[in-house]
Amino acid sequence: MLKKILDNKTCAECKVCCAFDRYDVWETPILTRTNVEHMFTINPDIKIIKKDNSYSFKIKELNKNELFYCPVLDHDKGCMLGDEKPFDCKIWPFRIMNLCGKRVITISPICKEMFNQPLSNLVAFLKNELLDEIITYANTFPEAVKPYDSLYPILYVEN
Ligand code: SF4
Repeated sequence: MLKKILDNKTCAECKVCCAFDRYDVWETPILTRTNVEHMFTINPDIKIIKKDNSYSFKIKELNKNELFYCPVLDHDKGCMLGDEKPFDCKIWPFRIMNLCGKRVITISPICKEMFNQPLSNLVAFLKNELLDEIITYANTFPEAVKPYDSLYPILYVEN
């Protein structure tokens, strides 16, 4: 979904969004039943928990420097799900968050490739390519709307 603004090769070489430390474990994607079914065909040992309308990875408490790697990440090739990856992964580093009761769309500072692009490019891309799908997704899965994090610049505020 980000191909017009972020090339696949950059993502495949980086993979930063597929590893989580104890502070950003909340960034793990929410999973639909279809996502889970695809994941099990790749890795039958994945531990999943049901959460609201969706699923998420079951992750033990992480130590200070410990990382949780997504169980469908191939460390050489990247995500093994291809086009079947969860919606959160398709749109990352864009995130939808709740700021004082309003939904806002932000960008993660972790993805340097995107974060360093001109703000006007990011806002235009968001409005033209992603906004409607993100809002529809958030309406279907309200648990995808995370509490606002002040490190994430806001690109869009819902009226
Ligand atoms: S599903 Fe794919 S893109 Fe998403 S965190 Fe796992 S490996 Fe990364």
